[in-house]
Amino acid sequence: MTSALEKNTALPKVILHEHIEGSVTPELALILAKKHNVALPDDFLYPKGAYDQEEFPNGRYQYDETDFGAFVTAYDVVADLVRDADDYYLIMKDYLSRNAAQGMIYCEMITSAYHLCCQQDAQGKVTLNAPQYHEFMDGIERAINEVKQEFGTETRLQGCGVRHLSREDMDMSVDFIAQNPRDIITGFNIAGNEKSGEFEDFIYVHELVDNIPLPKSYHAGEIRGPESIRNALKFGAKRIGHGIAAIKDEALIDELIAKQITLEVAPTSNRILVTEFEQKLDKHPLRRLYEKGVRLSINTDDAGLFGTDVEKEYRIASQVFGFSRIELLDVTLCALEAAFVSGDVKQGLIEKTYQAFTEQDWRDLEIHAAGLADGALKSRLQSRLHYK
Ligand SMILES: [Zn+2]
Repeated sequence: MTSALEKNTALPKVILHEHIEGSVTPELALILAKKHNVALPDDFLYPKGAYDQEEFPNGRYQYDETDFGAFVTAYDVVADLVRDADDYYLIMKDYLSRNAAQGMIYCEMITSAYHLCCQQDAQGKVTLNAPQYHEFMDGIERAINEVKQEFGTETRLQGCGVRHLSREDMDMSVDFIAQNPRDIITGFNIAGNEKSGEFEDFIYVHELVDNIPLPKSYHAGEIRGPESIRNALKFGAKRIGHGIAAIKDEALIDELIAKQITLEVAPTSNRILVTEFEQKLDKHPLRRLYEKGVRLSINTDDAGLFGTDVEKEYRIASQVFGFSRIELLDVTLCALEAAFVSGDVKQGLIEKTYQAFTEQDWRDLEIHAAGLADGALKSRLQSRLHYK
């Protein structure tokens, strides 16, 4: 266990699931509020000294962690502080460079055109402003390129439809993504309140995204049950945001394994937002899903709001769920194999990760795989031995 942690910074890490506006730390929120002359709500942040500064080095938001509505309200306050291209540059640079310094070699972030450039006229009609969108995306890409220069970290973006907005807004967002392509956008996501609307309400969206074409990762099975995941798969999702409800359905687990679907699990986010966990991780199925052979990645989701980062989530996997160093390397490889990035870049990142295996790692992997019962996990781990 200790050896997994000692080497943790050297361990290559991947994030497939982080929302741009959710990455804003309390420290940055204060800077942006000052810049835009916004008065933050009383008690929006814990005062210094009222929280563990080692756990929350960038400040800590104060909201009722047992209330999903309170989280959404806090999220909206933070998202509203991000208003121009410089703000987007600043928050991207901050998140990516902090996490890259912790070993993150690849990252996908979720961006919503609706958040970036929505405008309303006097009659209340909503449109998306293309020049503004491209200006903001230029700021985002400037940060991505600088972090790549400095750390070598690759970053890609997913366009996103927000399911709790109206169907018209969702359709408009996807039309906009199709009409305003950017090379950096290599995937599409459906996010927002999972209890609002069904995947079959958005047939136009699923089909248009297939035609662009962009691969899909849909949020499902976070605060709803396995049928939500089945529906996401039915409409072509290659990855599932969270997907932890799969643990309740053996047949679904078999389907996820057979189709090589990767779950984007976010332990801290799930602890806070999934009420049945009661703010604890002891009932979280991360370890059980992994042992059944489901491909999964470990994510920050809304790093700023939850006070987390890639190192912390990998540490939780190690300390709370007992993931060994080779299991964490396998998680990183599963994430890269499922990444929405072109073949050459993906292959390079996969090779880089295999190069991080020490002689001891190869021995540990061989012994560990040999000791497992026959099944999906054993065959995946054994297939990795061929890369030695
Ligand atoms: Zn999410």
